[in-house]
Amino acid sequence: MSYCVNCGVELDDSVKSCALCSTPVINPNVSVSPEDAVDPFPARMVIPAGVRRRYAAFIASMVFLIPNIVCLVINLLLNFGYLWAIYLNATSAIIWLLFVFPFLLRKPKSYIIIPVDAIGVILYTAVFYSIQHGEGWLFKLAIPLILVVFTFVFSVVEWIKYKRRDWPILVTSILIQVSVLSFAIELLFRYYYSLRLLPVVSIIVFACCLALIAFFISVKSNKRLRAWLSRKFFI
Ligand SMILES: [Zn+2]
Repeated sequence: MSYCVNCGVELDDSVKSCALCSTPVINPNVSVSPEDAVDPFPARMVIPAGVRRRYAAFIASMVFLIPNIVCLVINLLLNFGYLWAIYLNATSAIIWLLFVFPFLLRKPKSYIIIPVDAIGVILYTAVFYSIQHGEGWLFKLAIPLILVVFTFVFSVVEWIKYKRRDWPILVTSILIQVSVLSFAIELLFRYYYSLRLLPVVSIIVFACCLALIAFFISVKSNKRLRAWLSRKFFI
């Protein structure tokens, strides 16, 4: 190991000039010729995938943000008593939140993204509700519906994360969650329209799910069929 005669920085055997001050390196004592030595720096700069992903998300955010600001400014300057830009702004914001925001995070976590998305969808719905002076549907139907759907999404995501290996159990659990979801949605609609709180559509969904669950349990217990399916469909 040698040092630069000009600035004193430590020099690798392979360098022909100092990386810091560009002073030529002449060291007669180094046995390795510069051509044979291993270059200490990579020839090509490799940007980590996470950084590239967040950079792309940042550019996408700007693509969303700039036209929105322009439209809002135009709308405010040429105000004919009608705030049309709010539709564009709200829609852009929800698309950004659902599809760009997760990629901006260093470590996307489902317990952060899914509640944030749910709040975003509730706010988005509330914007239209207030513009159109809706009559009670926001609190009686929309918000419970959004919460039920996002709870379903969250539980499915968690199941997929922790039960990755055993696919028949995974599919069975998701089907159970689908039927619970359909029960919840139907009861919410029936409650909102003041119908009798008796499940009808969700019973049919439940029956379909049960039949599928029976199929998947038989697949799980039948090793040969399972192996054949795995081979055929790469699952
Ligand atoms: Zn130097």
